[in-house]
Amino acid sequence: MPEALSDKHHTDLDAVVIGAGFAGMYQLICLRDRLGLSVKVLEAGDGVGGTWYWNRYPGARCDSESHAYWFTFDPELMKGWEWSERYPEQPEILRYLNYVADRYDLRRNIQFNTRVTSARFDEAANRWHVRTADGESFTAKFVITAVGCLSTANVPNIPGLESFKGDWYHTGMWPHGGVDFRGKRVGMIGTGSTGIQAAPVIAETAKHLTVFQRTANYSVPARNVPLTPEFKQWIKDNTHTIRTATRETLNGQPFRIEQRKALETPAEERERLYEEAWERGGLQFRATFEDMMASKEANDTAAEFVKKKIRQIVKDPKTAAILSDIDHPYAGKRPPIDTDYFETYNRDNVTLVDVKAAPIQAITPNGIRTSDAEYELDIIVFATGFDAMTGPLLAIDISGRDGLKLRDVWEAGPLNYLGLQVAGFPNLFTITGPGSPSVLCNMPVAIEQHAEWIADCIKYMNAHGIDTIETTPEKMAGWVQTVNEVASKTLLSTVQHSWYLGANIPGKPRVFMPYAGGMVPYREICDDIAAKGYESFVLSKARATAPA
Ligand code: NAP
Repeated sequence: MPEALSDKHHTDLDAVVIGAGFAGMYQLICLRDRLGLSVKVLEAGDGVGGTWYWNRYPGARCDSESHAYWFTFDPELMKGWEWSERYPEQPEILRYLNYVADRYDLRRNIQFNTRVTSARFDEAANRWHVRTADGESFTAKFVITAVGCLSTANVPNIPGLESFKGDWYHTGMWPHGGVDFRGKRVGMIGTGSTGIQAAPVIAETAKHLTVFQRTANYSVPARNVPLTPEFKQWIKDNTHTIRTATRETLNGQPFRIEQRKALETPAEERERLYEEAWERGGLQFRATFEDMMASKEANDTAAEFVKKKIRQIVKDPKTAAILSDIDHPYAGKRPPIDTDYFETYNRDNVTLVDVKAAPIQAITPNGIRTSDAEYELDIIVFATGFDAMTGPLLAIDISGRDGLKLRDVWEAGPLNYLGLQVAGFPNLFTITGPGSPSVLCNMPVAIEQHAEWIADCIKYMNAHGIDTIETTPEKMAGWVQTVNEVASKTLLSTVQHSWYLGANIPGKPRVFMPYAGGMVPYREICDDIAAKGYESFVLSKARATAPA
């Protein structure tokens, strides 16, 4: 009996979309409302939001400014929503995404509490079979993954976790009811963007917070403020300008990288410009000079500026020294921005532990033991990041032609074309997949481009009676080489321990995953391919002859 017919519940569709965050929601709008396709979005959570559904840790806030961190495909949608702050907090972004879901009646095509476990391409029928943890199955011509880049939590394998008598949480799987830190001794492992946001907020209520830092990190003040009525009105009056601005910059942000070089700017003036950028706050600190990410010498000027600021802010010289002993270029890893992060170490109830000097050896029933001390804790917070980019895709058992497994194709790293397709997996598209600008871009901008490109491609296929689109091993090899080449022109590729390279996950292949050439050239490449009838893909009219 065909597999599909043996299932308790089976549905046949034009497209299955996996994930109901920004990406899945917009893909649904593109395919259902613009192309009239039958679409089901399968979502593991019980609500929309993706990243913003799961990451409810204290202090969770967007690092992109609110007026640039949203959908821009519909000016009326933009005018109908009002952000309250310069950087929206997680609950506000989740409210926004629910507003979008309401406005476009998305929930009727989203099935919640549904975790996809496998997707198998049936060559004879030219259809994908998608199965869920509950044993449901779906067949569809297209499968589009909208699973996010940072959605597979990394809980490090530290011996003894199961023996811990207190409670522990990973920031990316935060309890919906929140966590009460009052009167508790809290240990937090990790000082990436997440830990840097969480520490100041946890410290406000915890009896004591001990931060376990392995690699010291830069951070620049976010300078979050409520939006003024005038700015809110400016947003409503300038929806087109905002959309255009975020499409004309390399990283999808509404600010441009200044066309001046740190190394050609006199030291005093350079200092003044860094000071100005520090006061302005936010990710645009990275845009102060155009050579910051290309020249180590130029980058050193920014790095030294931030290290000096850390030493000025943090009163205890020993703590300041550990925090400012940073071993990589500024923004060589994803640069965090913060609200009172370094200031938090001036509180009496906060301690920094240098676990590079004295590594964590075990979690004990009572807390965390390093090589030189044991720290008694009631709660452990893992702000330890994610199995980024490939993790969420490899968590699904995906098999293509001839039973080819995605996890085998990607054994040595994520081979793909444009971050959108993998050879041997026809009609499978990966929104913000490895090899696309994704995490190096303001995410909604990257997502809108991918979802629109995929929808245009499907429209073209349907108009031309094409059954399958797929890439080839040669195209993948060429694209992976391009991704490596563009990364090698920046300082990003010089940092050996970043998650961009998969280095945070033991055993993961070290391959630079995102496309660092910028959103503008990437969009041009994709548009050019579309304009030429997707000539760099293999388009096939091989129609199905028999059911699977
Ligand atoms: P992350 O950047 O990967 O940082 C993880 C931290 O945990 C690092 O400090 C890491 O140390 C530490 N760590 C991991 N395993 C450890 C171990 N076994 N022992 C000790 N320390 C360990 O993760 P993240 O902070 O969750 O951020 C991930 C990404 O999510 C960000 O880069 C950003 O793209 C995104 N994000 C965005 C926002 C935003 O926009 N608001 C907020 C949060 C996160 P090492 O550095 O030594 O490995």
